[in-house]
Amino acid sequence: MRNSDSYDLVVVGSANADLVVGVDRRPAPGETVLGSDLAVHPGGKGANQAVAAARLGARTALLARVGDDAHGRLLLDAQRAAGVDTAAVLVGGAPTGVALITVDPSGDNSIVVSPGANARLTPDDIRAAGELLARARVVSVQLEIPLETVATVAELVRTRPDGPRLVLNPSPPAPLPAGVLAACDPLVLNEHEAAFLLGGAEGTPEDWARALLALGPRSVVITLGAAGALVADTRTDTVVRVPSPRVDAVDTTGAGDAFTAALAWRTGLGDDLARAAGYAVRVGAAAVTRRGAQESFPAADEVPGP
Ligand code: ADP
Repeated sequence: MRNSDSYDLVVVGSANADLVVGVDRRPAPGETVLGSDLAVHPGGKGANQAVAAARLGARTALLARVGDDAHGRLLLDAQRAAGVDTAAVLVGGAPTGVALITVDPSGDNSIVVSPGANARLTPDDIRAAGELLARARVVSVQLEIPLETVATVAELVRTRPDGPRLVLNPSPPAPLPAGVLAACDPLVLNEHEAAFLLGGAEGTPEDWARALLALGPRSVVITLGAAGALVADTRTDTVVRVPSPRVDAVDTTGAGDAFTAALAWRTGLGDDLARAAGYAVRVGAAAVTRRGAQESFPAADEVPGP
């Protein structure tokens, strides 16, 4: 047995408490408005992905940092309830990250994120967890933690023979060092993130995928909302569309996180990228039929058939 068989997926990323208030309208500078009761939800891209994968049945661990506070405990409870191994979640150093979200009657969100403990997940924290990363089939990372921390994950994964596969969702988008891009297999991103990395989105999604491959990743997956996804792989030299099932979408929050977690898990099980994306679009579609982020993620038996 390879020593990489302990975890199907290790997610390295953010954990945030989402603090949500409904408002009739946003306050102007210097103004105060009254809103609805506060709702507090577990969120953050890393925490979301870990919950999504574990709920599908993946053996999943989260490497993240939360504060020694009530929001941190809420996040850890949500991870454990989904079956995520939280032994590597670091506690303390700063308050738990929060997203302050106001929602207006049209459903538009305005969001302020305070990264808090997420900004204190350091390269040293990653090196100290090297053994955990080595025991993963796939390591999934996003950009709500410091870029130097992401670069350390990429370096550890790249330099280890027979090491795990790296999946990166560059969200929120930021310029990426060549070494990080070269480690991605795949780079998973939506249309906005693709446009950012390419400095504009000329042509078709197929054109974007080829242009993104030219930046160095071994493979690229672009999510296209209700249209599903597009997969480009240097191994097979193919660019393939993967349609999403048609569903009544009520809330797309976290859909990309559920998609990426499902894709990462399935590639680690040996699915080729197109097949893994075929599963991931069904997981994403299931997630948009329910409200919320983590609350909306399906168990394996709730994923619609092909
Ligand atoms: P993000 O949330 O990162 O912007 P997308 O909106 O592209 O990502 O959604 C990710 C995945 O979720 C899609 O590839 C698709 O599988 C699913 N999805 C999103 N919106 C819908 C929708 N309206 N109908 C069906 N599936 C959807």
